[in-house]
Amino acid sequence: MDSSNKKRVAIIGAGPSGLAACKHALAKGFVPVIFDSGASVGGVWTRTLASTKLQTPAAAFQFSDFPWPAGTSEFPSHDQVLAYLTAYARKFGVLECVKLGSKVVGAEYSGASEKEVTAWDRWSGNGEAFGDGSGEWHLTVQHIESGSIQKYEFDFLIVCVGRYGVTKIPTFPPNKGPEVFHGKVLHAQDYSHMEDRDAAELIRGKRVVVVGSGKSGLDTAAECAEANGSKYPCTLIYRTANWMVDHKLTWGLNRWLLSTVTETYYKMHIPMRKNGMVPDCTISQSLLGWKLGLLPDRFYDLVDEGSLVLNKCDSFSFCADGLVLDTGKRVEADVVILATGFNPDQLLRSVFTSPWVRDIVSGASSDTMLPLYRQVD
Ligand SMILES: Cc1cc2nc3c(=O)[nH]c(=O)nc-3n(C[C@H](O)[C@H](O)[C@H](O)COP(=O)(O)OP(=O)(O)OC[C@H]3O[C@@H](n4cnc5c(N)ncnc54)[C@H](O)[C@@H]3O)c2cc1C
Repeated sequence: MDSSNKKRVAIIGAGPSGLAACKHALAKGFVPVIFDSGASVGGVWTRTLASTKLQTPAAAFQFSDFPWPAGTSEFPSHDQVLAYLTAYARKFGVLECVKLGSKVVGAEYSGASEKEVTAWDRWSGNGEAFGDGSGEWHLTVQHIESGSIQKYEFDFLIVCVGRYGVTKIPTFPPNKGPEVFHGKVLHAQDYSHMEDRDAAELIRGKRVVVVGSGKSGLDTAAECAEANGSKYPCTLIYRTANWMVDHKLTWGLNRWLLSTVTETYYKMHIPMRKNGMVPDCTISQSLLGWKLGLLPDRFYDLVDEGSLVLNKCDSFSFCADGLVLDTGKRVEADVVILATGFNPDQLLRSVFTSPWVRDIVSGASSDTMLPLYRQVD
């Protein structure tokens, strides 16, 4: 391909997906640029809880052409994951293509009308990339530090923004929300983005309540319980239990074994029944809904020691000194951490300027089912 034919490719996001996409684009002879709003490559792995580690075995979280360093443990720490991703980007020349601290605030396809684009019929999962070469993508990029705006043009756009970034916060009737609470309320993402020292300072000697039983809820609650012990127990409040399993067995099993046999095994070996944490759904359903996770180390030991208290309820509201659960129970708190999830659709929509394209990438449904290019999964 001579340089005049080289296709300019914009990639939004320097997480694992964006890095792999860039390496592939370089290998094809294209000219890729990755924009990431963060300060370094690695996506979610750049800022996590101190206790976060990979919950899939390293062998299953590996680029096919870039093995983990010899001697890496089966479940590497978040620092090791970040080092691995950075080394991959360095080895394949991806680092030179990255513009950090650069947030894409608007992407617009120019040169073809909505009517023409609709006629292409290329958003319906038929495996074709968007566009026929007659138009180009115009990107508006905001420099995080200076706030300055710069415009770019590209032939192709690859969106690798991940699922996290726009937080889901519960709503409350007037006078029942965080505004009446005298303590501090923050989302689990904000907590995990804090420097380790600041996060430790925030929770030290405080009555912490964590809301939500997903992976980040359990990890956050376990971290707070470990830090404060039984003198200031952490309370986890949750509506439904999820399959949070012991790493020693499940990940080595094939999918077909994720069945009642496995569930029975876990119910016998993890004290979820005793603690009211038996999920309503099957492990397979959890897997499909991204809700299967790894139980934090010592989770039920922390419960037994009295450092972690589990409270099931359908809803709750705030009062001046804590939370009031719909069971009538009051839970006193200094800090409430909402591990209540994310809005991946909003994150995706926020990239595009045109409401029409926004609706294409994320329609009225509550979760995005955008077909991936060439049905990759
Ligand atoms: C705590 C935690 C633990 C996890 N553990 C595992 C695990 O063990 N195994 C596993 O397989 N998966 C795990 N995941 C899932 C995780 O999403 C993947 O590991 C992986 O990071 C996804 O990569 P990605 O590139 O798609 O997205 P991300 O890693 O989310 O990267 C997206 C990047 O896009 C950037 N971005 C977003 N919007 C814009 C914009 N408008 N402009 C510029 N940049 C933008 C963000 O700054 C970010 O750097 C975990 C996730 C979390 C949060």
